[in-house]
Amino acid sequence: MLDYSKFKEVSELFLKGKNREATLLLKELQTKYVSLCDQVSALKLQVKEYDDILNFSQNLIFDGNYYWLKTGSVRHGPFCAECCKDEGMLVRLPHGNTKKICWRCGKQYAVQPAPQVQPKEKKMGKVIPLHALINSSDKHCGDVSDKQAVSD
Ligand SMILES: [Zn+2]
Repeated sequence: MLDYSKFKEVSELFLKGKNREATLLLKELQTKYVSLCDQVSALKLQVKEYDDILNFSQNLIFDGNYYWLKTGSVRHGPFCAECCKDEGMLVRLPHGNTKKICWRCGKQYAVQPAPQVQPKEKKMGKVIPLHALINSSDKHCGDVSDKQAVSD
């Protein structure tokens, strides 16, 4: 820990004309400062590593069969569940509906049936009855004929 009162002491020593003592104390403070800067840099790197590990674990998803790694809106994988659980390794498996065998541990995964996509109920957007607007605007515009309304 850097003692800030030492800086005041350095200043007082210079004012009293004790330049040699002040210089020695200043060099001692400088050495401590450099050491603290090194410690801060090392701790920042450590925090970054922990942050990366936390981010990685938050984006590693298990779907019941495989692991997937989500980066942004992209899902990478599938990855072997055994290798991930046992060794913490991400071993990519073949994509698609093919038989998947992990090249590293040899685990065989059964072919997963394609997910059943439920047909979505046809949903209609908001319907704006145009003829109702035209009719209502006719009331506000008075005697505007169809030709005048089109030319506007
Ligand atoms: Zn594996």
